Amino acid sequence: MGVETLERRLAGVLGPGGIVREPAQLRTYECDGLTGHRVQPALVVLPTTTEQVSAVVRACSAAAVPFVARGSGTGLSGGALPCADGVLVVLSRMRRILSVDVANQRMVVEPGVTNAEISAAVAAHGLYYAPDPSSQIVCSIGGNVAENSGGAHCLKYGFTTNHVLALQVVMPDGEVVELGGPTADPLGYDLRGVVVGSEGTLAIVTRVTVRLLRKPQAVRTLVADYPSPAAAGDAVSAIIAAGVVPAAVEMLDHLAIQACEAATHAGYSTDAGAALVVELDGPEAECEPEFEAVLHLCQQAGATRVRVAGSDAERALIWAGRKAAFAAMGRLSPDYFVQDGVIPRTTLGAVLDDIAAMAAEAGLRVANVFHAGDGNLHPLVLYDAASAGESERAERLATAIVELCVEHGGSITGEHGVGTDKACSMPRMFSEEDLAVMQRIRTAFDPAGLCNPGKVFPTPRLCGERPGPYRPHALEVAGVAERL
Ligand SMILES: Cc1cc2nc3c(=O)[nH]c(=O)nc-3n(C[C@H](O)[C@H](O)[C@H](O)COP(=O)(O)OP(=O)(O)OC[C@H]3O[C@@H](n4cnc5c(N)ncnc54)[C@H](O)[C@@H]3O)c2cc1C
Repeated sequence: MGVETLERRLAGVLGPGGIVREPAQLRTYECDGLTGHRVQPALVVLPTTTEQVSAVVRACSAAAVPFVARGSGTGLSGGALPCADGVLVVLSRMRRILSVDVANQRMVVEPGVTNAEISAAVAAHGLYYAPDPSSQIVCSIGGNVAENSGGAHCLKYGFTTNHVLALQVVMPDGEVVELGGPTADPLGYDLRGVVVGSEGTLAIVTRVTVRLLRKPQAVRTLVADYPSPAAAGDAVSAIIAAGVVPAAVEMLDHLAIQACEAATHAGYSTDAGAALVVELDGPEAECEPEFEAVLHLCQQAGATRVRVAGSDAERALIWAGRKAAFAAMGRLSPDYFVQDGVIPRTTLGAVLDDIAAMAAEAGLRVANVFHAGDGNLHPLVLYDAASAGESERAERLATAIVELCVEHGGSITGEHGVGTDKACSMPRMFSEEDLAVMQRIRTAFDPAGLCNPGKVFPTPRLCGERPGPYRPHALEVAGVAERL
């Protein structure tokens, strides 16, 4: 069945406004937040119900047409990159809040509801949804589930997987199934846990049951300035070693502070080598003494200035500055890559020094904004796509940075996913056997390989290869590996 036949069949299912086929309109969907990778899909569908998603997927399955789920398109690893011959299933019209159970602190929502809308809907009850990606006013809960998204407060509260109780999903053959349940530890295999973080490669999420937390009684926030990220890193180690678990510990280096201040005027010191944002929350009786201890530890570690938020408005301003950090890079550079890697916290100084040396060698600037408490780096590689060869140099540098994280005992991604961007780096972390086990899980869900193909796993198997005519990989030439 061709895409035209598929379109005619789906028109009856989706109704007016449910299908996008105009080339100019399709361009809207050709990339996510990884804007250097672009593919125009053959067809975009905008379902409004689970039944419609199921009908679309059934039709794709019958026609052997690949399909890709998309939420708000803020992903930074190319996970929602369409297939040229495929259907892009955009969930942004499924944005109803289906139920709120205040007494049991649960809420059921459709996948297109944004992260921030969940907390806003229950704020009057003193409740909120804890994972807080900086993109939270735009990104969808379906995308958060697919990426197992994190945020500044995940140091204390955990990631999306810790806050999702149940999922309704449409399997790659169109079947609708429920995974998990209303209680925290349901029976059987944790298939909910398998789907969380699977980057849209196993199923399409059509309903999410989230866990809500009670807002903390007290919240205290400070910004401590240091001459260098290494000195700020020492403060982080001292805080954690003292047994304090802050709600958030974020770091911005000098370049990142320049961009944030230019964009938000949040009051960060532009002459600081690094700024540490530390937030504590909890019962008043616990929060106050711990905050005093943290203040003392920050000063002892050599802070050149400490600013304590004196009001909710000031705290919001500090966070507005931090959360705008990625977008603020536009003040410094026409283009930038947002990188995402994890390192053991103790290697922070060494890794940042290496990144600076690699950036100097590549002739590029790198700003660093990151979740310092859990070693989740976000190096921002600045470049100018209009300058010949700079995009390629920037991409190589971004890849070398995550591979450096692996060398230091870390990971190629903390929260932004593998997607298209980092599939090539998967063999740096996982053996062939590890990848084969993951593939077996994938094929158990999706035997035909139609659900978001080409993501997460290196394709072709031997990476470092570019699309185009076949060229043998160096390992094949050496007889060490063969193409499967
Ligand atoms: C400025 C900025 C700041 C960011 N800050 C953070 C941060 O602090 N922490 C963080 O973790 N991330 C962050 N991100 C990355 C991004 O916002 C998250 O990955 C987010 O969860 C993506 O949600 P989305 O709705 O935009 O998903 P999309 O980009 O549309 O899709 C992302 C992936 O999820 C899949 N998917 C989407 N919806 C579904 C569904 N219903 N069912 C199955 N699969 C689906 C897609 O196929 C794709 O693989 C940031 C991005 C930007 C642009």
